[in-house]
Amino acid sequence: MKSFKTILEEKGIKPTYQRLKIFEYMSRNIVNHPTVEMIYEKLLKDIPTISMTTVYNTLNAFLEKGLVDAITITGTEMRYDFNTDSHHHFLCKQCGKIMDIEVTCPFSEGKKSQHGHRVEEVHGYFKGICKDCLKDVKNSAEESSP
Ligand SMILES: [Zn+2]
Ligand SMILES: [Zn+2]
Repeated sequence: MKSFKTILEEKGIKPTYQRLKIFEYMSRNIVNHPTVEMIYEKLLKDIPTISMTTVYNTLNAFLEKGLVDAITITGTEMRYDFNTDSHHHFLCKQCGKIMDIEVTCPFSEGKKSQHGHRVEEVHGYFKGICKDCLKDVKNSAEESSP
């Protein structure tokens, strides 16, 4: 497997210590779909000199080079995804968790055009209440019933 340093170098990104740390964080938190703030706050403990701007600029560079994907499912913030394969997301409106979901879609099966348009990206956003929150709703309903 290629080292993170090699991956960045191959994309023309100078592998500074901070950039490597950000890349490493993304690779370890693949299910989190973190925001710039979340990454900044976590890394601040290890790298007190890191700035929010550095995190933001680094993620932008990763995005440009296709090393991460950006998800705008919440409509108010940018979330980053280390998994750059075409896949869809589910947002829980109660706890705010963003999860990958598998949905059969002709575009993930290799379809490349629609109505004569060339499709280059596919983002499916599904919203609702996640199974964990549904459990909580059910439990509290049972508790309060006489
Ligand atoms: Zn939830
Ligand atoms: Zn994802």
